[in-house]
Amino acid sequence: MSETLLERPVEAADEGVGCAGSRRQLRDSAAAAGQGETLARYAADYPLGPHDQPQSMCPAFGSLRVGLRMRRTATVLSGSACCVYGLTFTSHFYGARRSVGYVPFNSETLVTGKLFEDIRDAVFQLADPALYDTIVVTNLCVPTASGVPLKLLPKEINGVRVIGIDVPGFGVPTHAEAKDVLAGAMLRYARTEVEAGPVQAPRGGRTELPTIALLGETFPADPVAIGTLLEPLGLAAGPSVPTREWRELYGALDCVAVAALHPFYTASLREFEAAGRPAIASAPVGREGTADWLDAVAATCGVPGSRRDAAKNRFLPAIAGVLAGAPIKARVTLSGYEGSELLVARLLMECGADVRYVGTACAATPWSAPDRAWLEARGVHVQYRASLEQDYAALDEFRPDIAIGTTPVVQKAKSRATPALYFTNLISARPLMGLAGAGALSQVINAALGNRERFLEMQAFFGDTGSGDAAGVWHQAPQAAPAGFREQMRRKREKQLAKRNVEDAI
Ligand code: SF4
Repeated sequence: MSETLLERPVEAADEGVGCAGSRRQLRDSAAAAGQGETLARYAADYPLGPHDQPQSMCPAFGSLRVGLRMRRTATVLSGSACCVYGLTFTSHFYGARRSVGYVPFNSETLVTGKLFEDIRDAVFQLADPALYDTIVVTNLCVPTASGVPLKLLPKEINGVRVIGIDVPGFGVPTHAEAKDVLAGAMLRYARTEVEAGPVQAPRGGRTELPTIALLGETFPADPVAIGTLLEPLGLAAGPSVPTREWRELYGALDCVAVAALHPFYTASLREFEAAGRPAIASAPVGREGTADWLDAVAATCGVPGSRRDAAKNRFLPAIAGVLAGAPIKARVTLSGYEGSELLVARLLMECGADVRYVGTACAATPWSAPDRAWLEARGVHVQYRASLEQDYAALDEFRPDIAIGTTPVVQKAKSRATPALYFTNLISARPLMGLAGAGALSQVINAALGNRERFLEMQAFFGDTGSGDAAGVWHQAPQAAPAGFREQMRRKREKQLAKRNVEDAI
């Protein structure tokens, strides 16, 4: 591979500016305000570097969405109005259909501690057991940096559980990992309830078979497909975490093992471990992925070899048949921030795609290690904590026939007449596991590849119109800036950056 941005470190983890200011300053303020322990835990759970902040949405969206998807759960945000506006807008864009509570503040209520009292009052007003099982209160960047002590909220009011979490953009790198912050806090609460005595039974009663809990937000058909794979092993699919209601947390903890389908749920896995439940890495994608996963499940759960082999004989030829009937003949680069990127890449390769680059905004964990090893053994460049610049560099380096990525990557690819697909909306929203996953992916990829001619026609028709400096709507033909202007601006930006770094270091 040539010397490209792929090898170049981007930005030291402690430097740079988040949307609420210098990340280092915010971290220092939060530590001084008594949040050092929380930040140290996040740093261990969600390791950074060389690039710590993906160029994506506010991380708190992940935990917000987990709460909004749960029945009988109230959600309250504490943060700057602009952050709350953005988060609620995005939630409703994604069909939340639920109110998001907000406790506003000003500099006086923030520094005098009145904000905490206001949050406490709001929680007491909301705590109606006829309406809610749980209230989730989330500190965004500014209240976290100021040390608003959510841990001092009552743990329960009128039988309604109260969970306070800090989800600052300067401590939790991605929205994926923010899902884990809330899921982990809920599992911990539920585990202490289980340890204290009898808890509510699952809706519809317990299954007779031992279960494998599923960790990760998957397409609705995936848990069904996994249940089918587990049945010949004498096992059943347990609840998916993040759950849709509180009592499913008990059901999840009641498993014999947990499948870390998405590999970034570090805090949640800690709770399963504390409950004595071992974790299984990777997921049943494609023929080889399914074979490896069935082996891992059987080994973890003590399933006899004869049952394991019977399951493999039943499913693997069928999956191989579907894969052979749905080939993908294309060079692909892939990037995203959902955490399932390595699994998708494995499935693409089993469909015959020539995958060259996989970028994920999430960190390396033991739960994606088998997928990384499988991909790297086949020459794929796997980039954890990938930056947008690295994703762009992959487009330059590998010249894919199709790029799967985040919004800006897709835009860049399409502007070069390269077919492209949004990872989150078009790839994540499809089955991946077992038989169903084998066919679904190639359908969407092959349809997109068919757009190549149309893109080329459009490119030939429009030429350079509206590109570069001339992009946008102009009343007059855009004029090029005077000679030397770009160089002057570049020097100015460099000076500003150097000044800010010096200020941060002081
Ligand atoms: S909460 Fe933090 S990361 Fe999120 S939008 Fe506000 S300042 Fe940015």
